[in-house]
Amino acid sequence: MTESYSGSALGDYLKKVGEKGVKTAYKPQYVDRIPKSYSGTVSGLLEKTDERGVLSNLAKRLNLLPLMDREIASLSGGELQRVAIVACAARDADVYFFDEISPYLDIYQRINAAQAIRELAETKSVMVVEHDLALLDLLAENVHLVYGTPGAYGVITRPKGVRVGINQYIKGYFSEENIRVRSESIVFEVHAPRAEKDVPLLVEYETFTKKYSQFILEAERGKIRKGEVVGILGPNGIGKSTYIKMLAGVEEPTTGNVDLKLKVSYKPQYLKAETDLSVRVFLRKIAQEFDSSYYQSEFIKPMGLEKLMDQTMDELSGGELQRVAIVGCLSRDADLYLLDEPSAHLDVEQRMMAAKVMRRFAESTERSVLVVDHDIYLIDLLSEKLMVFEGEQGKRGVAHPPVKMREGMNRFLASIGITFRRDEDTRRPRVNKPGSRLDRSQRESGEYYYYADDAA
Ligand code: ADP
Ligand code: MG
Repeated sequence: MTESYSGSALGDYLKKVGEKGVKTAYKPQYVDRIPKSYSGTVSGLLEKTDERGVLSNLAKRLNLLPLMDREIASLSGGELQRVAIVACAARDADVYFFDEISPYLDIYQRINAAQAIRELAETKSVMVVEHDLALLDLLAENVHLVYGTPGAYGVITRPKGVRVGINQYIKGYFSEENIRVRSESIVFEVHAPRAEKDVPLLVEYETFTKKYSQFILEAERGKIRKGEVVGILGPNGIGKSTYIKMLAGVEEPTTGNVDLKLKVSYKPQYLKAETDLSVRVFLRKIAQEFDSSYYQSEFIKPMGLEKLMDQTMDELSGGELQRVAIVGCLSRDADLYLLDEPSAHLDVEQRMMAAKVMRRFAESTERSVLVVDHDIYLIDLLSEKLMVFEGEQGKRGVAHPPVKMREGMNRFLASIGITFRRDEDTRRPRVNKPGSRLDRSQRESGEYYYYADDAA
C-alpha cells in the first residue's frame, strides 16, 4: 500500500514507521473500552503518560481537574474521551494519531479539544480522523479524503488543503483524482427566513420548569411553527434531553403545563434495540408507506438501510441502530418530531444524508421537527430556527425560545467566542481565525454567523 501514498505526509510516515525511526502516540476510537484495560484513577493514568510535562496545562484546558481523583471505571463517555485525548497529547512522540475526538463531547468541549490539538501541531505531526466537518476545518491544515465501499475497500487520497479538501468532499467530486463519490453536491443554502405571518403556528407553550434533586431547567415561553425545523444547541448537562422528554410526554414538568395536545414522535438520545425483529418487519409495522417508491427513495436509500433489512434490530451496531431509529421516528404519523442527537455514531456522509432526509421530510409534509445536535454543519444544513440552551452544566439550564437562525447563531457563537464566515464556493460555514481581520470586524458588528453579503 505504501506506494500509493508516496509523496504524501502519510507516505513519509509509513516509510519511517517501516524503518522504525518514529515514535507515535495514539488515541483509540472506542474510548468506552479504556476501563477494560486500565483500572485506577484519572491522575494515575495521566501522570504515566505525561512525558512532556504538559499535563496540568492540558488537564485544565479540557476541564479534567475536577475529575483527577475519580476512578477511570466511573467516568462518562465524554469524560473518558477528554482523558484519552489528554493522555495522547501529553506523550512525547513524533507523530500523534487521534482516531475521532468528538464522540460524546459537546460543542464547547469539541472546540477546546481542537484548539489544544492545533497547538500540539505547531511543533509535531498530528493526524486526526473526524466526522464533524466544522471541527476538522478548525483543526487541520491538510486533509486526506477516504472513499470506497464500506467493508470492502477504501482509498485514501493525497493531502489536500483543508478548505479545498472539504469543499471537494461536499461537492462529491475529487478533482485531482477525477473521482465522483456522490451524484449530488451537499447544498448549504442561506435560507431566507419565511415571513412569520405566512407560516401557521403549530403550538405555543408557556414557561415551564423541571426540577431534579441537583438540577433545574427553566423553559422560556416559545412557539413552534408548522413545517419548520428547529435546531437545538447547547453544552452537555444543560437540560436539552430533559426539555425534549417533556415535549414528548416522557417526563412531567414540575411547574407549568406541557400538554401540547399534539401527536409526537420521539427518538431518544440513548438507543436500545429492545426487539429481535428484523429491520424490515420493525419499519413495516410503523410505516404505512413502507412498500412505496416514495418511502424507498426518501428514507431507505439515502439512509443506506437496504443492506440492513434482514438483520435483526438487536444485532445492529450503534450507527446502524441510529439510522434505523431516525427513519423509524420520521415514519410515525405525528405533528411534532423530536430527534435527540441523531448524528451520534454516524459518519460524515451519513450525517449529511440524515440532514437532507430530515429537512426534505419537514418541507414536503409540513411537519415540525426539533433536532438536538452538536454537529454545526448538520444543524446549519437542517434548521430554519434555532433554540439555544444556556446555564451551568449539571446545575441549571435555560431553554430560550426558537428564534431565527441568524439571531440564535449570534447568541450561540458569542457564547463560545468564535465567528463564522461563509465559504464563497460551497456556502458552508467556516470558523474565522481568532484575531483575523474578518474575526475582528464581525465581532465589532455583532455578526458572529453570517457576513455582510449574505446577511439576508
Ligand atoms: P443534556 O441533554 O443537555 O446533556 P440532560 O437533560 O440529559 O442534559 O440532563 C440535565 C441535568 O439533569 C444533568 O445534570 C442530569 O444529571 C440531570 N438529570 C437528568 N435526568 C435526571 C433524572 N431522571 N434524575 C435526576 N437528575 C437528572
Ligand atoms: Mg442530552
